[in-house]
Amino acid sequence: MYRTLSTADLLDDLTAAVDQARTVQMSDRWRNALESGYEYLLQTDEIVFDVATGTLVYYSESGVIYQANGSCQCKAFEEGQPCKHRAAARLVKNAVKAQANREMSELFAA
Ligand SMILES: [Zn+2]
Repeated sequence: MYRTLSTADLLDDLTAAVDQARTVQMSDRWRNALESGYEYLLQTDEIVFDVATGTLVYYSESGVIYQANGSCQCKAFEEGQPCKHRAAARLVKNAVKAQANREMSELFAA
C-alpha cells in the first residue's frame, strides 16, 4: 500500500542513508545513479512509497511515472544499467527503516 511521506520529515534519515551509501564500494554508474536519485528526492516535497515492497513512485521531468524497487521501467534498467530511480527507492527504504527503528527505540525508552 502506497503512503505519501513528507520529504522534510524524512530528510535527516535520507541524508544519513546517502552518507552511508557513499561509503559503500560501487561502480561509477551506481555512484552517479545514487547522487542523481538523492538529488531527485531533495527536489520533491512528497515521496510516494510502498514500505512492504520498497517501491518508490518516481515522477520524471518528462512526466513519466516509474515504479522503482529492485526493478524499474526505464531505459537504463532495460539495458541492465544502474538507474537513479532504483537508487532513490533504496535510499527511501533505508531512511524509512531508520525512522521506524528510532520510533521503536523511543517507544520502549519511554
Ligand atoms: Zn529506472
